[in-house]
Amino acid sequence: MATAGGERLELPCGETVALTSLDLGMRELDCDCGEAHAVVMDMHPPTRFFPEFLVETLDDVVETTSEEMPDFGTPHLMGMVMEEFPEQIAVADATDEGDVGFAMVWISQFDSRRLHEVVVELVVEMMEHAISHAESERAMTEFEEQMLEFDVTAFVDQYRDERDLDPEPYV
Ligand SMILES: [Zn+2]
Repeated sequence: MATAGGERLELPCGETVALTSLDLGMRELDCDCGEAHAVVMDMHPPTRFFPEFLVETLDDVVETTSEEMPDFGTPHLMGMVMEEFPEQIAVADATDEGDVGFAMVWISQFDSRRLHEVVVELVVEMMEHAISHAESERAMTEFEEQMLEFDVTAFVDQYRDERDLDPEPYV
């Protein structure tokens, strides 16, 4: 393997990509295998996936165990995705890579749209779990009622439309 482009990351599909070829605004990679793969970097804010108020709720609800990353953020989200789909995500630590501008990058087998749905589904499950431990039956019932009406696909469609109107803060 040529090393001219620095370290290469092997993707779930078997292709490889040079870390230095990834740019910070990238959300999706058109791969040589013919598929598009989602690209997520550690400094992409979690508002890439949900509105700010939900990010704040998650920060309150979720106990993060990492001292380095006490606030709930994109690395936690991608950790959840990797736990659920270990075969579908490639991850690289780029801290030794010098001037690429990111410390961690995750590239998934699925495209950025599917990844968005996966992230939202996992967060909804996690919140259900958190609320079921809240010892408030009323909170649980209210949450379940809201979730019955919550449509992940519709949410993702709508959020992506709104976000793409004003993409600056999300890249
Ligand atoms: Zn590929």
